[in-house]
Amino acid sequence: MELLRPCRTSIAALLFAALPLAGEAASLSTMQKTVIIFKPDAVEAGRVGAILSRFEGAQLRIAAMKMVQLDEQILREHYAHLVSRPFFGEIADFMRETPVVVAVLEGENAVDRVREMAGPTDSAAAPKGSIRGDFGTNKMRNMLHASDTEESARVEVDRFFSPGEVF
Ligand code: ADP
Repeated sequence: MELLRPCRTSIAALLFAALPLAGEAASLSTMQKTVIIFKPDAVEAGRVGAILSRFEGAQLRIAAMKMVQLDEQILREHYAHLVSRPFFGEIADFMRETPVVVAVLEGENAVDRVREMAGPTDSAAAPKGSIRGDFGTNKMRNMLHASDTEESARVEVDRFFSPGEVF
């Protein structure tokens, strides 16, 4: 028995040493919800299904989805950071060309992963393999909106959905 003691001690020491690593790994991976909007160019081109299947294939679960006609008021809220820019009117017109499909996706690190899959704002500069790079046209007609932070995702879920519509 005496002989086992040092051995037990070293196992315990190893476990304690590993604890911070386990904590670190857990903090790198968070279950999140994020909002996407299939913009009128995606709806018009019949790309909603193709884009959605990329997300489902990446283990992002549909937690909510509906088709809505956006109006000036909700667009002023949603694009508040762009309202004073000269091209805001053009964006608002574009976003009202057809109804859009709004969805909530849920998965590990969903906010950053969905932004990564969407690609940068300018479709012409977006890499092939990204949604905007494969399907988008330019800076404005870029197929998809995706929440940029966990906090804006929370605000956007509440902007577009009532609690009973999110599953
Ligand atoms: P992102 O959608 O990549 O987060 P922003 O929040 O900056 O980009 O812009 C919101 C949307 O407004 C863009 O997705 C795009 O449709 C449009 N937009 C942004 N900048 C421009 C621009 N310079 N010219 C035309 N449209 C733009």
